[in-house]
Amino acid sequence: MTEVKIQVGKRNKVSIICPQCGKHKEIDTSRYQGKTEEHKMNFTCDCGFTFEVSLNFREYYRKETHLYGHCDIVGYRDPIEIIVENLSTKGVGFTTGIPVNVSEGDMIEVEFILNDKKRSLIRRTVIVRRIINNYIAAEFHDMKKWDKDLGFYMRP
Ligand SMILES: [Zn+2]
Repeated sequence: MTEVKIQVGKRNKVSIICPQCGKHKEIDTSRYQGKTEEHKMNFTCDCGFTFEVSLNFREYYRKETHLYGHCDIVGYRDPIEIIVENLSTKGVGFTTGIPVNVSEGDMIEVEFILNDKKRSLIRRTVIVRRIINNYIAAEFHDMKKWDKDLGFYMRP
């Protein structure tokens, strides 16, 4: 069966385009949102063509957190305490205990403990993407290396 992959964004609506006739149909994805990273379903267009639609929520799934940890920044002698405010499959958002001197594109080491049963320690290199006062939004440097513990924790 023909498969159509759709990336779901922040809006809970996606446009499905029939590969047979090109007709658009907008569907509401809110009933699947947060339940799974990927949702597959069969879709039949008005023209009668049936195909598989794979909705990908992974990239945009973000979990609100309150996790303690620290980060190591070049030029700072001591690790800086952080609170991880949110986690996504792409990166992490955290506030630092003290104002820090970093710029977009800087690579820093973050380490934090998940509040899962195992109290898993996560240590990752991240790239700073956005700085708002003491808040830093950063992207995981090595996207291929995805911790099992983190993956499990991120499951909705
Ligand atoms: Zn069609």
